[in-house]
Amino acid sequence: MNLGAHMSIAGGLHHAILAAEEVGARTLQVFTKQSSQWRAKPITEADLVRWKAERERTKIGPIVAHDSYLINLGQPDETKWREACEAFRIELERCEALEIRRLIMHPGAHLGSGEEAGLRRIAQALDVVHARTAGFAVRVCLEATAGQGTNLGYRFEHLRRILDLVHEPDRVGVCVDTCHIFAAGYDIRTSEGYARTFDTFDRIVGLNRILAFHVNDSKKPFLSRVDRHEHIGRGFIGSEAFRCLMRDERFRDVPMLLETPKDPGMEVRNLALLRAMRAGETANGAKGETANYANYANSGGEQKQKGQEQKRQKQRQQEQKKQKQEQQEQKKQKQKQQEQKKQKQKQQEQKKQKQEQQEQKKQKQEQQEQKKQKQKQQRQQELKKPQQQKQQRRGQPDRKRASKGGR
Ligand SMILES: [Zn+2]
Ligand SMILES: [Zn+2]
Repeated sequence: MNLGAHMSIAGGLHHAILAAEEVGARTLQVFTKQSSQWRAKPITEADLVRWKAERERTKIGPIVAHDSYLINLGQPDETKWREACEAFRIELERCEALEIRRLIMHPGAHLGSGEEAGLRRIAQALDVVHARTAGFAVRVCLEATAGQGTNLGYRFEHLRRILDLVHEPDRVGVCVDTCHIFAAGYDIRTSEGYARTFDTFDRIVGLNRILAFHVNDSKKPFLSRVDRHEHIGRGFIGSEAFRCLMRDERFRDVPMLLETPKDPGMEVRNLALLRAMRAGETANGAKGETANYANYANSGGEQKQKGQEQKRQKQRQQEQKKQKQEQQEQKKQKQKQQEQKKQKQKQQEQKKQKQEQQEQKKQKQEQQEQKKQKQKQQRQQELKKPQQQKQQRRGQPDRKRASKGGR
């Protein structure tokens, strides 16, 4: 089975694998760091060990990653573009460490520089990053977008253009998001529309380029160019497109990931529905899948799964809370230690000053002592002087007498 979902890494990278397991997902998409921040906490040895252990135990895969939404490789500003390239390189590095082989990214926005300039910029960025990540096993997957704002990638031709421009096209694949292509103007609502769309895709990009699907219904209508995901069958796309996708033999081995809203129990529901759509073909024909899903729902399976999921979520939240408390405790202790260190330094400083003062006092006393002695010597010399003068005046013969008189 190639059905899975995007899962949060809150509480640690391996939590995403546990969350996928809970809802019965067989593949998984993660952000390898917080998607809304530039900075990334380095992946520790402990993170890696837990990640590998859970991956091995659950056999969930292939696991794919999605890059941060902040990165825009189509950025016309030179400095910002360089920063984006560097951030993207780090994303690839993290994938490599986690043994993730597909990094899905929104190609980028041209921000007014024009579509061709934007596409060239993106290809140039990929070349720069590829050069700095030679030998990496992870492949970049250009995601087809809804075309909001100046975002590129909303025409299959955009993806083709980037593939044509990059120096190492073998390192680049594509991710098709059903919600995005529908909002961008590819009508997949009927089986004919579905077939036509993928024929077009095959002609322009090539189906073998598809390394992942994002399976989402759309909250916004056809050609809205707005990117809002909805639960399967509840949006403007409807069930038929997903039925076609689930039964498309060409994509049997391509990971298909839900990015539907995070409402409790809904991943279980969406996955069950997709599975039923696939099974329906081999079982009871077109109506089979709905019946299968109805059976599943009626048997209480959904409720049961929902309950378990909520329980696990609660546990996770408690774990996160505990971690946070521990971190705060550590922070407090560190502050305390620093405070103590500071005080100790202060005390030593004071001690030193005192010693210096004593030293100075001693020196002063010594100086005074020396001064006193000098004065004494001077006085003695002065006392001797008159005698000498007397002696000189009296001449040699008188010396005997003078010495006598002195006594
Ligand atoms: Zn997507
Ligand atoms: Zn989207």
